[in-house]
Amino acid sequence: MRKVSKKLVAWIIVLGLLISSYGQTCITVDAARLNNGKPWIDTELQENLSKNMKTDPTDNFHLHASKDWLVKSRIPEGYDSWSHYSERGRQVKMQCIRMLQDNSITGHDAKLLRTLNQLVLDWDTRNAIGVSEIAPLADQILEVKDIPQLNALLMSEDGLFYLDNFISLGVSAGLTDSTRNMIYLESPGLLLDDAAEYTKRTEYGDMMYNYKKDVFTYIAGKLGMDHNKAGLCFDNAIAFEAKLAENMMTSEEAMADDAIKKINNEMNFSRLVSFNGNYPLTEMIEKMGYRYNKNYVVTEPKYLEHLNELYTPENLEGIKDEIYVCYVLGFSDMLDRETYDYANDAYNKYTGSEGNVSDKEMAYSEVVGLLPTAMEKLYVKKYGSAKSKHHMENMCRQVINTYRKMLRQNKWASKKTINYAIKKLDAIKIHAAYPDKWMDYSSISLDGLSLIGAERRINEYYSDYDISCAGKKVDEKNWGYGMSLLACNAFYDPSQNTINMIIGMMGEPFFSEDMSTEELYASLGAFWIGHEVSHAFDSNGAQYDANGNLRNWWSERDQKEFEKRVNKMNRYLDRIVPFGKYHVNGSNINTEMIADMTGLQCALKMAEDVDHFDYDKFFKTYAQMNASIGLYSSELYLLTQDAHPLDYLRTNVPVQQFDEFYETYNVKKNNAMYLAPKDRLVIW
Ligand SMILES: [Zn+2]
Repeated sequence: MRKVSKKLVAWIIVLGLLISSYGQTCITVDAARLNNGKPWIDTELQENLSKNMKTDPTDNFHLHASKDWLVKSRIPEGYDSWSHYSERGRQVKMQCIRMLQDNSITGHDAKLLRTLNQLVLDWDTRNAIGVSEIAPLADQILEVKDIPQLNALLMSEDGLFYLDNFISLGVSAGLTDSTRNMIYLESPGLLLDDAAEYTKRTEYGDMMYNYKKDVFTYIAGKLGMDHNKAGLCFDNAIAFEAKLAENMMTSEEAMADDAIKKINNEMNFSRLVSFNGNYPLTEMIEKMGYRYNKNYVVTEPKYLEHLNELYTPENLEGIKDEIYVCYVLGFSDMLDRETYDYANDAYNKYTGSEGNVSDKEMAYSEVVGLLPTAMEKLYVKKYGSAKSKHHMENMCRQVINTYRKMLRQNKWASKKTINYAIKKLDAIKIHAAYPDKWMDYSSISLDGLSLIGAERRINEYYSDYDISCAGKKVDEKNWGYGMSLLACNAFYDPSQNTINMIIGMMGEPFFSEDMSTEELYASLGAFWIGHEVSHAFDSNGAQYDANGNLRNWWSERDQKEFEKRVNKMNRYLDRIVPFGKYHVNGSNINTEMIADMTGLQCALKMAEDVDHFDYDKFFKTYAQMNASIGLYSSELYLLTQDAHPLDYLRTNVPVQQFDEFYETYNVKKNNAMYLAPKDRLVIW
């Protein structure tokens, strides 16, 4: 939570394939009529499944194709969900853990990784340090008497690094000129994640509230705060955040199609001066090192306009409590063993998960999170293959070539719009497996530092790097920065118009050299490459031109038709009720659903050129790639806070749009998988 702008990642940088708001209203009568009155069960919830249940591809295809895996799989200790992505992710994790223990691997990167890994695992030292490193600044927050004193603390060296100072700064490619890096000025993150939770608390918000309050109260106790006082302090923090949240975008608004236009507000430094008041905005920006002579992208001007109305002497106690709570909670995984175990137990208590990952896995997550490039370089050296990289590049080209054919056969858009779409398609840059250029960690040394000190040193390195990029040309060669190349995932970056098919996903069951054509098309054709290319033409990506600039290239008529189609999809998705009182929010997930659907459309187009193509094998592989199980709390999170549809919907909704599916399984009008041709949702 320290100075890393999570919002930038969600809004601008990349649209991942996998896991990365609110608006629950009551279930409509309409929902009951969906699927011919036989709604699909949410197959991620294992309580919905049994070994002996009968399945039928015409009623719930996802369940039919994946039942064996869904029934027999278990969520491992310390996880919220489990899937084939998790299996591949854990395979990479175990390979990396073995490398972390292999002293024969030498060099600066290996040394950095081992040093950090040891710092995380050195419980004796962590226990001896306890909260002593975080106590001085915590005490200083509580001692603040007035706004000038608070400002001085926020602008102290420690304050600038650690304290929630009501703004978040980051550097990323510009929206209207994607060749240049710009500084983004955003609102900070919130304890309950979503601004909507402060006006209408949901089950998810309650879970976050209880979990964080419990952990905060525990650590505050170690810092000497009385239990009741700590509870009050947490509630004061929430009450002050409720005031801030009134002027922030909700998760639902941030996932809506118009979000990207709303956040594109450029202002120069003099304009920012007009926002100064009790809160010394521009002085803070300068002290943090983010002063430059180019424009800033201010994502939520309304937030800045109202900040000074809230940053007042009357609210001082609430402000202090908010800063204190965020500061303390930021260390829940960096302190002693007792605190680590307490936080895990609390997480399990409130989310329903069980057990904990091994210490080695926990340490790996910290290490790869803080020093990703060092781990990636070692991994690529040992497991990277030029042959696989070329295989992936060729497959990307094949998908793009088929996509071109698909766009040419489009029936609703004008020739001019299609020609531009093809121009954009042809401009997509392919990034396969790993980059040729890496971040250079040679200036980082962790010698003599504690775990908290090391974490700070590393994050300062990233801040310095980001600041050095502000206003400069985007370094296209360094495309792996910020992308977690070892994650089982893939990304489309709309601002650079690139597809990034990274090494983390390049393993069984998603990728291997000896897959059948059907498996290859279901996995890479539809699910991975086809999906990422489709993000260039989803309701968000389609707002960017071939160069990655936010610019309208649509004719008015075609844009209306596109929106009509997206709205039709939203309406269909809105009717789906996965569990309890919760229905899907179509506008949250339409970009990902369009990418799934259009990716599948592309793979089916590729299949047209293959003699004796086995559609049954193809569709089953597609469904099996999506197989996952999850806790109720994890489903709740995905349904309300994530832009990706639940996995069973990522199978069932796309397949029911295509004739090949109806023909393969003889789907009839009264089947739950049936959708009348006039109701089908294919966008392109
Ligand atoms: Zn995606």
